[in-house]
Amino acid sequence: MVAEKRYRICPMSTLPRRRSIPVHIGTVVVGGGAPVAVQSMTNTDTADVESTVRQVQDLARAGSELVRVTVNTDEAAAAVPHIAERLARAGVFVPLVGDFHFNGHRLLKAHPACAQALAKYRINPGNVGRGSKRDPQFAEMIEVACRNAKPVRIGVNWGSLDQDLLTRMMDENSQREQPLDANEVMREALVVSALDSAERAVELGLGRDRIVISCKVSGVQDLIAVYRNLAGRCEYALHLGLTEAGMGSKGIVASTAGMAVLLQEGIGDTIRVSLTPEPNGDRTQEVIVAQEILQTIGLRSFVPMVIACPGCGRTTSTYFQELAQKIQTHIRHQMPEWRKQYVGVEDMTVAVMGCVVNGPGESKHANIGISLPGTGERPVAPVYIDGEKGPTLKGERIAEEFQSMVEDYVAKTYARKPEKVTPFDGVSSKGS
Ligand code: SF4
Repeated sequence: MVAEKRYRICPMSTLPRRRSIPVHIGTVVVGGGAPVAVQSMTNTDTADVESTVRQVQDLARAGSELVRVTVNTDEAAAAVPHIAERLARAGVFVPLVGDFHFNGHRLLKAHPACAQALAKYRINPGNVGRGSKRDPQFAEMIEVACRNAKPVRIGVNWGSLDQDLLTRMMDENSQREQPLDANEVMREALVVSALDSAERAVELGLGRDRIVISCKVSGVQDLIAVYRNLAGRCEYALHLGLTEAGMGSKGIVASTAGMAVLLQEGIGDTIRVSLTPEPNGDRTQEVIVAQEILQTIGLRSFVPMVIACPGCGRTTSTYFQELAQKIQTHIRHQMPEWRKQYVGVEDMTVAVMGCVVNGPGESKHANIGISLPGTGERPVAPVYIDGEKGPTLKGERIAEEFQSMVEDYVAKTYARKPEKVTPFDGVSSKGS
């Protein structure tokens, strides 16, 4: 019966969700059964207002519902209110989260406009100060949060775990009759650090509905073990993410492997995918990956899904790969407009298949699907709409014709939303 008490069904999907305390972060709710929020972090110098505003806008337009910025210097702290103001003037109302370490207590006190402009403070208990300074500096940050009615994330990271706590727990472990292995002690220390810091914040006057917790590690098995443990020991909203996930496919796979298991179990109220971008790469990739994780699992819908076969020796050319890519790009490009205009368009599925072996079958399951001609097949491309055989396309302009059929399908199928002014490009800060 414990499971019944702790878990409930999210109205957005049929997957169970761990019960957690809702936390209001600006206009976004994290936890309490709210849709799992996507967040991201800038990599600009926060003191550079121009670049930071531009990147926050990009991340928000890509669908990031919270954006974290580094606040590490007086210049960065002084820039935060200007960044918030510039974003508001541009119609971008995404809540900003300040990432504080070592000098956060001082910066928050010295820059009250920064403390006010931020929607949440991230505090790392392992980096608030050493020895006797740690507790008072942590308390100063919590007091600022209480005064400004702001939530905090107690964000523990294994790379900066409180060394005093770890040493004490290692010593205690060595006294046991059957000591645990060092990795298990480390995992437990992460959880203890987060929960003890949260309780200390509550003692200092911060409501439990103003606390989000994270315990980030860089190994998938560690992540799963730590969050299962954490989820079973508290009802705080949880921020999920693998730290230092890495670059490219390695980072995407590692993040997905860890987070998918936990999300499937209902654990996690907000996620961030910490990808290392390629040099001059697009920072928004981490937002798209986070959305795709949630959508693939079936927790949320963000953009219509393109289902494409991998191709094989039956495909005649790269033509079908190009079509699949064209359709995917077109849909992402159209989505801000479609989202503003049509109800439920993000649930659409489009199949682009390389031949008629599996093409028609897969197309019938999609809202609209096309099967291109494979090797030795007649040069025609049958289209299925809502499971029924539709027109057959042929000739040089199959891609363009199919694209406009998708457009027509959207316009005919999804109800129009009433006209209203949206904050920016239809990306709601409450999530779609
Ligand atoms: S649908 Fe056709 S082209 Fe695509 S993988 Fe299957 S057999 Fe190959």
